[in-house]
Amino acid sequence: MTVVGAGPTGVMLAGEVRRHGVRVLVLERDAEPTPVVRALGLHARSIEVLDQRGLLDRFLALGTRYPIGSFAGISTSTPDQLDTAHPYVLGIPQPTTERLLTEHATELGVEIRRGRDVVGLRQDDDGVTVDLADGTHLRSRYLVGCDGGRSTVRRLLGVGFPGEPAGREWLSGEVELTAPREEVAAVVTEVRKTQQGFGVGPTGAGLYRVVVPAEGVTEDRSVPPTLEEVRQRLRVFAGTDLGVHSPRWLSRFGDATRQAERYRPGRVLLAGDAAHVHPPTGGQGLGLGLQDAFNLGWKLAAAVGGWAPEGLLDSYHSERHPVAADVLTTTRAQAELLSTEPGPQAVRRLVADLMDFEEVNRFLIEKITAIGVRYDFGEGHRLLGRRLRDMALTRGRLYALMHAGRGLLLDQTGRLSVAGWADRVDHVVDVSEELDVPAALLRPDGHVAWVGNDQRDLLGHLPTWFGAAAG
Ligand SMILES: Cc1cc2nc3c(=O)[nH]c(=O)nc-3n(C[C@H](O)[C@H](O)[C@H](O)COP(=O)(O)OP(=O)(O)OC[C@H]3O[C@@H](n4cnc5c(N)ncnc54)[C@H](O)[C@@H]3O)c2cc1C
Repeated sequence: MTVVGAGPTGVMLAGEVRRHGVRVLVLERDAEPTPVVRALGLHARSIEVLDQRGLLDRFLALGTRYPIGSFAGISTSTPDQLDTAHPYVLGIPQPTTERLLTEHATELGVEIRRGRDVVGLRQDDDGVTVDLADGTHLRSRYLVGCDGGRSTVRRLLGVGFPGEPAGREWLSGEVELTAPREEVAAVVTEVRKTQQGFGVGPTGAGLYRVVVPAEGVTEDRSVPPTLEEVRQRLRVFAGTDLGVHSPRWLSRFGDATRQAERYRPGRVLLAGDAAHVHPPTGGQGLGLGLQDAFNLGWKLAAAVGGWAPEGLLDSYHSERHPVAADVLTTTRAQAELLSTEPGPQAVRRLVADLMDFEEVNRFLIEKITAIGVRYDFGEGHRLLGRRLRDMALTRGRLYALMHAGRGLLLDQTGRLSVAGWADRVDHVVDVSEELDVPAALLRPDGHVAWVGNDQRDLLGHLPTWFGAAAG
């Protein structure tokens, strides 16, 4: 199968599919990885996803742990007993995240071809053909557009992307400054009293990351600003350009909020920013894309492998579309709360007071970290549809058993069986003080597909997610 775009969503997805032995090709327009730093961190669910695939140690080695504790910039404490083994934010720049995921995908055997610009697309009953800008064509059974907010794949499919265009724009970059560090800090403190969208902070090695509101909204944000533009905007907001010079990169971003109407037109699917864009407030975009990939990867592998039950691939849209719609709402709300207008400021004070209530705080933090996501698997136990947190078993940790990306029956009774599905589902007989059901069937993405202790009932649920029994 083919993935368009080697951003974080694309390489995560490629690894997830390849893990199951499927041949995966990633086509990326840029000849080299971008140095532009957009995301600065990962929230708990993304950290869990990395842990479930044995990748977390690589990320922890290069990242910094920070306490969870803010919604729309309103400081709060991490709620007690948050339902995760990873109650922290992992600070790690996006290029590092992309590099680590790319290395992992390549180790698994994913082929990444850079300098390949997808310009055309056709699909029929058997597969998808893409046209590249160099005049060549490629054919595969499925194709996933992970090609970002301005997705060519989405446009070629004619899938609607309703929502609101950017009303504001910011310039960002990594630069050197001649102003002394204390002066920079004093200027930032002063300007941020009235402009939350302004920031200049050290990134190490004498460099600073600058974010400053732009004068208007440009037509094409893929065209970077000039250093002179950044200099002028710094003067407008800070009264000084801080001696800005020698940019390593410059970029622009906006606050558009949009979502693709359909995530799966036929054999082509959309994931990550290609499926949804929203203001960066709260830092959820990259994580949302990783989690799209985590939901979709095993389903595509099942489709290619010929064991996907009816409707499995369609469940990608029905599960992930509502999740992103909710993130769009939450990030928009956060962006509004950061406004310095008197109305939003009044609402902000009220929200800050409400967040003193433990349950409100927990509700909001579960949203931002995505650990509260629950797919609709119908009526049933409170765990059904939620992902199971990592937990201690007598012989190790649950997530350590999930690296292969297969289904897993965690069986505390020792009386159940997955015979017939043993090639797709691991059977782990063990106990955990943290699990209060006799047994739980987990999908490869860790979401609970069944709980109980009855073998006949289990046999009724295995085919829903894992297809027909073998033999
Ligand atoms: C200022 C800012 C701060 C942010 N902070 C955070 C944060 O702290 N945490 C967080 O989770 N998220 C954050 N985000 C969001 C995050 O950066 C994005 O959600 C993330 O990059 C989306 O990843 P993606 O792989 O879906 O798309 P992209 O990263 O946009 O990757 C798409 C890839 O597709 C390629 N491509 C495009 N068109 C084609 C084509 N026709 N053919 C071949 N290849 C193509 C592109 O070159 C690119 O490499 C932030 C965003 C911004 C702007």
